[in-house]
Amino acid sequence: MDISRRDFMRVSAASGGAAALGGLVGLGADLAPTLAAAAELRIKDAKTYPSICPYCSVGCATLVRTVDGKIANIEGDPRSPHNEGTLCPKGAAIYQLHVNPNRPTKVLHRAPGAADWEVWDLERAMSRVAELVKKSRDETFIERLEGGVRVNMTPAIFSLGGATLDNEWNHIHQKLMRGLGIVAIENQARI
Ligand code: SF4
Repeated sequence: MDISRRDFMRVSAASGGAAALGGLVGLGADLAPTLAAAAELRIKDAKTYPSICPYCSVGCATLVRTVDGKIANIEGDPRSPHNEGTLCPKGAAIYQLHVNPNRPTKVLHRAPGAADWEVWDLERAMSRVAELVKKSRDETFIERLEGGVRVNMTPAIFSLGGATLDNEWNHIHQKLMRGLGIVAIENQARI
């Protein structure tokens, strides 16, 4: 179907931005060739790797496209039986997990009562975390309950894991937390 300039302007003004596409379709325009060309351009010369969104237990399948060894695009895998090529807003932003100039890359520390952040090197930050974990654990460790039941735990420390931690890290992390007597352990992916 031919669409006049007047029709296009009318639909664009009424719908605005991307929604105008729906209006064009409503006028009978066939956008399939344009969309196919755009999809082809986006992944032209890219290598494709199947992967999984790490953010929640739905485990939507993704396709990671790389050009010259760098991620160019991540989208839902249409072959997946449960997400069928779609991703939720969080999963759709997963590219920014890897490529994001606003992502902090240094440890920032703000001392109690201070107004400003101080940049710490990682070694110093890790030593401080270890020092405080040991102090809190030692000060709050409960060996036995009043009735004599042995519990060997501390109620003073809570472990919250990030959704992008992999299986191997989670395995070791659990061992460390349980070994320290920490029983409040949760992961962001399940919350
Ligand atoms: S966060 Fe969204 S895209 Fe990722 S697995 Fe969960 S539902 Fe799927």
